[in-house]
Amino acid sequence: MIEDRIYAASSILVVGAHAFDAEVIAGPLAAAAVKRGASVTFLHLTMGEQGHPCLIPAHYCVQKEEEAGRAAERLGVKVRSLGLRDAFLPSDDETALEVCDIIRELKPEIVITHWHGSWHKDHRAAA
Ligand SMILES: [Zn+2]
Repeated sequence: MIEDRIYAASSILVVGAHAFDAEVIAGPLAAAAVKRGASVTFLHLTMGEQGHPCLIPAHYCVQKEEEAGRAAERLGVKVRSLGLRDAFLPSDDETALEVCDIIRELKPEIVITHWHGSWHKDHRAAA
């Protein structure tokens, strides 16, 4: 079963369109995997900096980076970011190749990301 492969993996990459997506998608799984010795990396394609109703994106981006760092520290995961623009995540070869470079570097046994039919276009682009 796929669950057995996920829970037995020694390296996992979780790709989220926005910071905090990877934490929601796989936070508990990541914590359990790290606890048994696996290497887990959260890749944030954007910081989700457009998502605050009051803060300007540049300020919210700094807040999201700090929050992502604290979450990664608590979960024991590594964190990476492509720094792409929130709400305009491209679904193109250039972006796919950037993600491929990270997959080639980390060589994860398992890659987890959004559902391809998600309601959010950035989530679909990430998938
Ligand atoms: Zn999201």
